[in-house]
Amino acid sequence: MTSQHTRATTSQPSAGDEPAGDDQQRTGEAAPTADDAERRRAHAHAALLAWYAREGRAGLPWRATRDPYAILVSEVMLQQTQVERVIPKYLAFLERFPTLAALAEAPTADVIRAWAGLGYNMRAVRLQEVARQAQRDFGGQLPSALDNLMRLKGIGRYTAGAVAAFAFGAPIATVDTNIRRTLWRILRGVEPAVWPSGERAARETLALAEWALPPGRAYDWQQALMDLGATICVARRPACERCPLRDCCAAWAEVAAVTLFPSGEALARLRAERASAAGSASTEARVAEGAAPYTTPRRRQAQPFTSTTRYYRGRIIVALRALAPGASLSLGELGPLVKPDYHAEDDLPWLRMLVEGLARDGLARLSDAENAEGESADPAGRRVSLP
Ligand code: SF4
Repeated sequence: MTSQHTRATTSQPSAGDEPAGDDQQRTGEAAPTADDAERRRAHAHAALLAWYAREGRAGLPWRATRDPYAILVSEVMLQQTQVERVIPKYLAFLERFPTLAALAEAPTADVIRAWAGLGYNMRAVRLQEVARQAQRDFGGQLPSALDNLMRLKGIGRYTAGAVAAFAFGAPIATVDTNIRRTLWRILRGVEPAVWPSGERAARETLALAEWALPPGRAYDWQQALMDLGATICVARRPACERCPLRDCCAAWAEVAAVTLFPSGEALARLRAERASAAGSASTEARVAEGAAPYTTPRRRQAQPFTSTTRYYRGRIIVALRALAPGASLSLGELGPLVKPDYHAEDDLPWLRMLVEGLARDGLARLSDAENAEGESADPAGRRVSLP
């Protein structure tokens, strides 16, 4: 086992850029002792696990299995898609590709077709690559050790930790944005206006999550944190008033120390005030350093989604999915399907660039720019299909 498997069991790890005790110093209270942290953790374990047993989200199909492959599929789908949309797709995907071997051996075009409705189609290709690598390197099984899971291309620390903990029952922490926010509030206080980034911050958040794991309950604890983060301790305006952890939550205590009427709304306000103070402080610092004259930050115009590359890549995949298996169409035929006001003269180079990008990502196939005689093929006649 690596150090990542080793849970700290005594004092609460420090938070690097946001040292433990900062919040108490702001409110004039004494910094928490190791005993306070231990007590808060024990209380949180009891309260959250009891709430999860009573009110955890029911009907999530990936909670009814410990099959590592099914857990992996669910984790990849849930990365960028909401739970409600994932459920039917997850069930259909497993029916179509019931095992790692079935996924590895399937034509990639079928996997891309089965991913319809989930978006971020690259995930489908990467998932199949993982299945193929597991076939090659791990005898057709997903490995159970965290280090080996992370050797699978495209599997990061979060997904590896989720498979290790949720499929293999390993006492391993895993931190997504919901878990990070919820844990931080419970154990540390109101979250920072801007989360510290970088490897050190990620390591320290992971250390906090490892320290917080209740012995023998890694699965339930982390599922419970996700449920709390998705239903009560939500990012914008947490529902502290009905939260089972209110009595032991550091963020609630922090809000109660500065207002007579603590509430989720008061917490959201406090966080917004800090965000705005942090923004002013950084502006003042820049002015003091003479870095740049003060100007009101210009609001960046949001680009409409329907004009983004991602949107048009998605439209191309939709058009290719509609083809019969093995069929293809020319770039000239594809253009009007993707862009109603397509003008070959202006838009063909743009379309070709998009399709070439999809081909590089393993999501499409584009016929060669030269024919068998080595002559340039008609650019608009080049054939496009799913891989
Ligand atoms: S009391 Fe509020 S901040 Fe604390 S865990 Fe509950 S919802 Fe989150």
